[in-house]
Amino acid sequence: MAGTTEQQRFAAPKGTYDVLPPDSGRWLAVRELLLWPARRAGYGYTEAPIFEDTALFQRGMGEATEVVSKEMYTFTDKGDRSITLRPEGTAGVVRLAIEHGLQNGQLPAKLWYAGPMFRYERPQAGRYRQFQQVGVEALGVDDPALDAEVVALGSRAFGALGLSKVELLLTSLGDPQCRPAYVARLQEFLQGLPLPDEDTRRRVALNPLRVLDDKRPEVLEMLVGAPVLTDHLCDDCRAHYDAVREYLHELGIAWKEAPTLVRGLDYYRRTAFEWQHSGLGAQSAVGGGGRYDGLSEAIGGPPLPGVGWALGMERILLALDAESTDERPVGPPVPPRCDVYVVALGAAAKKKAVVIVDALRAERLNVDMSYGDRGLKGSMKGADRSGAHTALVLGDRDLAEGVVQVKDLKSGEQRSVPLESLVEELVHR
Ligand code: AMP
Repeated sequence: MAGTTEQQRFAAPKGTYDVLPPDSGRWLAVRELLLWPARRAGYGYTEAPIFEDTALFQRGMGEATEVVSKEMYTFTDKGDRSITLRPEGTAGVVRLAIEHGLQNGQLPAKLWYAGPMFRYERPQAGRYRQFQQVGVEALGVDDPALDAEVVALGSRAFGALGLSKVELLLTSLGDPQCRPAYVARLQEFLQGLPLPDEDTRRRVALNPLRVLDDKRPEVLEMLVGAPVLTDHLCDDCRAHYDAVREYLHELGIAWKEAPTLVRGLDYYRRTAFEWQHSGLGAQSAVGGGGRYDGLSEAIGGPPLPGVGWALGMERILLALDAESTDERPVGPPVPPRCDVYVVALGAAAKKKAVVIVDALRAERLNVDMSYGDRGLKGSMKGADRSGAHTALVLGDRDLAEGVVQVKDLKSGEQRSVPLESLVEELVHR
């Protein structure tokens, strides 16, 4: 239109999303529940910056990985430093551990974290450019029982959520003693195949394990008979893997052997695992992790073995949706936003109402009140919408009589309660 300037309307950037009430209540409840098994096992909260030196990820995760070569949010800051928004949590946590000398304290150092990660990926259902992970890392001890603990913490977390369609995939990726010989053997096998495109052939040279992860039926067919790493482990890696499986067996945790499971990051050694959910389509991995004994040295630290996982919040929420029905929602109960809603009619009543609200909140009840002059009808609508089970209605006349009307919002029943016994009565309700 002539004479008007069009205002730009903003939306969340592509591949990101907003979390807001009431869904955010569920979001927090799920995150809490996921982390409880780890907290009970002595994992302590840690927070590393959301951005780090770009080189930390390049050295830690490996330059040839998809994430480092294609997906990082990297920029030069005003001090001319190359900075990257963290694409994952492990490198930062290991950097933090080294910087604070955790290797000199009680080992294993057990840490957990939660927060956003950033990868420039093609957005789709269950895949975002900013996404939320919760993770654990156990550092400083190379003990297969610790691998089993870490795996169990994740499996128990999914169990606590009530998810039943999560499958644990497990393998060993060997170590620098046995992996190179296997890789050479695999490359030889792959070079003999009529692989369909240049990209895949390039992968044979750069990251041949990745080729095993190809999902195309024509490629899968060619891969039948490919050598698998678990058949070529050195004695140490074999013993480690056998022990991990024995512990998991003792713990009653089921898994599927996944000899072609490759993890996206270079730093994994020996134990590698992933949890997949069968109701999610293409983005089925709800979490994954493994042992990364060489990572610390790769980023200039002392020898500091480690094992950990990261779970993807968004996909876990999608998995809960996929398993939920109207009759049987799966997941933690979401605490009500409001138990008691207070409606004050008149200026004097309102003064009293704010005090009642404050007193009830001090008793740990979730309490809200009607703000703005909405009248009785509008305010009662607010009470219904709040989800409260009880409304308190306080008019100037009630105030004069020293009572409050207490209304059960389910049954509609209403009665007068003396002001002095109100708090006690509601707390005991
Ligand atoms: P990774 O760090 O790649 O091992 O990922 C660990 C978990 O994070 C995966 O199993 C997913 O659940 C989740 N995840 C990884 N990338 C994304 C993404 N782009 N969007 C949403 N979730 C993701």
